[in-house]
Order: sequence, then C-alpha cells, then structure tokens
Amino acid sequence: MKIRQEVRALQQTGILIVCALAMAGCSEAAPTEPAAMTCDITRLGVERTITVTADTGSIESLLNDGEVVLSFDDGPDPRRTPPVLDELDLHCTRATFFLLGDQADRYPDMVREIARRGHSLGGHSWSHANLMTLTAEAAHGEVSTGMDAVNAALAGTGPEAVMFRFPFVATNAELSADIRKMGLLEVGVTVDGADWTKNRPEESVDLILQKLDLAGRKGVILLHDPFVNSNERVSLLLSRLKQDGYKVVALGSAETGQ
Ligand SMILES: [Zn+2]
Repeated sequence: MKIRQEVRALQQTGILIVCALAMAGCSEAAPTEPAAMTCDITRLGVERTITVTADTGSIESLLNDGEVVLSFDDGPDPRRTPPVLDELDLHCTRATFFLLGDQADRYPDMVREIARRGHSLGGHSWSHANLMTLTAEAAHGEVSTGMDAVNAALAGTGPEAVMFRFPFVATNAELSADIRKMGLLEVGVTVDGADWTKNRPEESVDLILQKLDLAGRKGVILLHDPFVNSNERVSLLLSRLKQDGYKVVALGSAETGQ
C-alpha cells in the first residue's frame, strides 16, 4: 500500500510539473496529441523499436541489459483494454498486444484503436485453444483464422501483424515450424506476471521484478489487458520499471506489400 501511495505521489508530481510547463507556454501543443504533452524524461517512454519479420528470431536475444518488451495477451476487450491504453499513454510507452481472433472479429474498432495509439499487434489463435492438444490441421486453422481476424480488423490501416504467441505459451517443434512456414514470428515470454491468479497488482509487479532480476534484468514481460485489475497492474508496473531504471523496447512490424 505504501508503495502505491508513493507511486501516486510521484505521478501527481509529474502531472503538476507538466501542468506548470503547459501554463508557462506549452499550451499551443496540439490538443489532439495529449500524450505528447507529457512525454518528458520523467516518463518511462520508449528506448528504441525493433522492426520484426518472420526471420527475426528470439526477441530476448536482441535485448540489452535493462531492456524490456511489454506485451498483453487475450484482448481486445472494449471495457478493459482502453484503461490499459490510457496508462501506456500516460507513461509515453508502447507495447505489443497479442489478440484472440474471436475477440478481434467481435471488436474490430478496438483492434484499430490499439494500433492507432502506436502499439503493435500479434495473433494469439482464434479461441485460445491449447494447440498442442489439437490435430496439426486444426492447430494450423486456429493460427490462420486468428491472424486473418486481426488483419481484417486492421483493414490495411497499418502493417500486417506478423507476430504470434501460442496460447499458454504451449508449443512444440512441429507447431513452431508450422507458424514459421506461415510467415509468422513466434514471440515467447521471459517474465510472466501471473496476473491470471488471484494475486494483487502489487504481488504481480513484485513477481515480475524478481523474475527480471533472475533473467539478467531483461526480457519480454507478459500481462493481460482484459482482466479486472489490468490497468492498476500496468500503472504500478510502469512506475516501478521507471524507478528501477528499465528501458522499454517496442516491437514493430515492417510495412509489407505497400
Ligand atoms: Zn492467452
């Protein structure tokens, strides 16, 4: 609780500084870009972007000491994804969202909103089936229909999604080889915040930071945007990453066929 109070105090201090700057003459900044007005060195921000293709290989191996990638699985959710996007905006940082095909199909506007706000997209199968339990043909169908739904929602508004994360991060050599053949990059998880358990946001974030230490202070962090406390978790995580000197690396898909 004390940590959260301190974080809130820090956030409020930052907001006050930004307001003071705005009153001193920064107010002519375009009102359509509210996040840009607050993107100074007090924010977590984005250190650099890695442009990925199917041949990029392990993301973890491309990260330097102190660098993390933020990722969110199982969305989009029209009620719970937007507050997560707001937290990311507040910290001027970018993440990758691995979307379920049936959710992308149901909420295409939400898919476009995630992309519009500067985040990259990947697929996470159509229905979150454990692909290791399916026939090869059925598993292939889960991947392809899931990716098609994400890309149909994007409808040519940006680069095609080329990243894929297996549901439950459950794969084997055959499944991984199949998605490579489909032109997709498999993105794994270094640090799981275990936000699918009943742990509180503080416990998730403590766990993430402990696991990052064990992983050599770098890696791909997994959280979920459609959960009850998702925005509170991400708010706390981003503040703690900033305090601990971590840098965020964004993943971006290369423009193809344009
Ligand atoms: Zn998932």
